[in-house]
Amino acid sequence: MIQLYIPLGFLGVLYREIKQSLTDLSKMFTLMEKEREIADQPGAPALALQTSPAVRFENVSFAYEASRPILHNISFEIPPGKTVAVVGSSGAGKSTLARLLFRFYDVQQGHITIAGQDITQVTQASVRQAIGIVPQDTVLFNDTVEYNIAYGQPGASRAQVEEAARAARIHDFISSTPAGYATMVGERGLKLSGGEKQRVAIARTLLKNPPLMIFDEATSALDSANERAIQAELRSIAENKTTLVIAHRLSTVVDAHEILVMEAGQIVERGTHAALLGLGGRYAAMWALQQSSE
Ligand code: ATP
Repeated sequence: MIQLYIPLGFLGVLYREIKQSLTDLSKMFTLMEKEREIADQPGAPALALQTSPAVRFENVSFAYEASRPILHNISFEIPPGKTVAVVGSSGAGKSTLARLLFRFYDVQQGHITIAGQDITQVTQASVRQAIGIVPQDTVLFNDTVEYNIAYGQPGASRAQVEEAARAARIHDFISSTPAGYATMVGERGLKLSGGEKQRVAIARTLLKNPPLMIFDEATSALDSANERAIQAELRSIAENKTTLVIAHRLSTVVDAHEILVMEAGQIVERGTHAALLGLGGRYAAMWALQQSSE
């Protein structure tokens, strides 16, 4: 009896997990057409995780459409627990780096590795489980605030959700709505401002507690008082985590282990903030421009 009972119990759990992941996947598919474009290798294992895995881009080239190459031979490393920041003009390919690391697309040349494992050789789901993204525009599901924060961490308790919301400074706002954490958000529910959505994304990431982080213009939607608070919060989340930051405002990247300056799909300058200022090139010019406009 016991032998029969255990597999049946296991099947029940498996069924719920599969059903949940299918629901989530179908939502993702409707949101992101590109999800369909990549597939796991047959029998691919999950990414073997470490606390702070190194990330390497090795001679990566990529085009969304064959006729228009976007990235050319990009190589860099984010050492375990460090932050690498990418800056450069609009359309240079910065967000494309983040999308490739999250495996929205597979590279056409070169390799991306996490903890030494080529991300095309492990399951896409395990790569995504390892990465927390605070994106430029957070897409919320037409579901409750609680679901949206717990997304990616389905077993999370209400107490954990609230703790993450407090840390992301969105708890008071949620509590002020009549239905609280049960408030429906998204297109068919309560509309959140850009900053509030970003805080939901930060709470989601805090709850997921992943070893790898991607911040894509993480604070662009906030006013300056909120921005400073959130920046401090982001710095504390990123501490000891391997982090890729895509930034426009250089003040957010001065402490990065390395800054990559991109132009038309290539890295044209790289180094620490101090080294790049000393170089007197593009980064130094961008810095001078931002300082004068602030
Ligand atoms: P920004 O700072 O404005 O966000 P970025 O440096 O992050 O820009 P990317 O979003 O990486 O730039 O885009 C790089 C190039 O790839 C752009 O020319 C863009 O038009 C193109 N591109 C981005 N997404 C797609 C897509 N899904 N299909 C085709 N081309 C795309």
